[in-house]
Amino acid sequence: MQHDIPLESSGPNADAMAEAVSTCIRCGFCLSACPTYDVLQRESDSPRGRIILMKEVLEGSMSADEAAPHLDACLGCLACEPACPSGVSYRHLLSPYRSLVRERISVAWPQRLQRWLTAQTLPYPKRFRFAARMGLIGKTFSALVPSVLRPMLDLLPETLPAAKELQSRYAPLGDQVGRVALLAGCAQQVLAPSINEATIHVLRHIGLEVVVPTEQSCCGSLAWHVGDGDRAAKFARNNVRAFSSDSQPIDAIVTNAAGCGSGMQEYGMILRGTDIESQAMALANTVKDVSVVVCEHADRLRLRRPGLVHEGEAVVRVAYHDACHLANAQGVRVQPRELLRRVPDVELVDVAEAHLCCGSAGTYNLDQPETADELGRRKAKAVMATGAPIVVSGNIGCLTQLQTHLNSMATEAHPAPRVMHTMEFLSACLDESPLN
Ligand code: SF4
Ligand code: SF4
Repeated sequence: MQHDIPLESSGPNADAMAEAVSTCIRCGFCLSACPTYDVLQRESDSPRGRIILMKEVLEGSMSADEAAPHLDACLGCLACEPACPSGVSYRHLLSPYRSLVRERISVAWPQRLQRWLTAQTLPYPKRFRFAARMGLIGKTFSALVPSVLRPMLDLLPETLPAAKELQSRYAPLGDQVGRVALLAGCAQQVLAPSINEATIHVLRHIGLEVVVPTEQSCCGSLAWHVGDGDRAAKFARNNVRAFSSDSQPIDAIVTNAAGCGSGMQEYGMILRGTDIESQAMALANTVKDVSVVVCEHADRLRLRRPGLVHEGEAVVRVAYHDACHLANAQGVRVQPRELLRRVPDVELVDVAEAHLCCGSAGTYNLDQPETADELGRRKAKAVMATGAPIVVSGNIGCLTQLQTHLNSMATEAHPAPRVMHTMEFLSACLDESPLN
């Protein structure tokens, strides 16, 4: 029986998708790296299994509905890419595939409602703040909230930090060494505005002027990763314009959320086949995670022992959690560690099973709560086992997921470690005493 989509009509990313499918030699080396295979122990929930399923749908020998449960269960964490000896670019297959089949998959109405609410609130800080405030009221009266919406409430903190408007420009502190533009992010601005503050603080400290384009929007990666290619393209197009509008050149577009950074680096793919494809690709090449930019100027950092723990301790143990969209999607593993190691009296400790995703993965913890919870518990357990009083990471989704699971595991004897963004930690360790 023939189904759905012949490969040759798979849209502007058809060649890259076909390349990814044909590069897979089915060796299975990726299986041990895949968190969902680890949890679910099914070939169809492994990278190799999913590549075969996507191939069959694209060739018309399987319906998209049949493959959907296994593709929906994929975190998009890209742990399969560095594990693959054949160089399969899974990212060039998964997101374009999801975008292609999105309208052809039957989705139950509660899930449809949840996805619609997420798409209408998370990418818009003002709407999300309003929704989060309503959510906090809803938490108090959760018995009255429809069950489909309760998982969204679980992701909210106990209180919302006060909103902080960003300026459009921040001057460097001391001599200027460059100029960067900051992606302000969307949900992060509401849940943790301190991350942008800390990021700007560190960037200014090393001598960078920071501009924050006022016309910027959500980067679009939340939409892109769930297959809403049209919405992602709308956001990407807006940002290509917003970040190109400044009359003075910038050295880099800086992101401080791993998912946003990897999404912006895929603008060439999101806008492939459009009139601004080459402009989008050029812009994508200037996007860097903040840890990379700070590392490039690391000799300008003046750091002191963190005042975040008890005075009596000789060293401060800090655990670093690799966000998948930083480590796997952007290849950024060394720079955050290098920055943390530079802080006096800091001992960086490894987290076991570092390759395993924490289960956050954009909106995955809403769509696939059981697998997300299992991975979140495992990650929190591994962090607790380090005994470090601080855990640091570079992605708001990971920080929220870690905090939730660490809190649920903490006891009086073993309190939850403090969860911080890498820039929050670094900002708290900057030495700003006057130079003699
Ligand atoms: S490791 Fe690479 S080539 Fe081997 S099965 Fe996995 S994706 Fe295919
Ligand atoms: S992206 Fe992550 S969850 Fe999906 S197949 Fe690859 S390793 Fe597995």
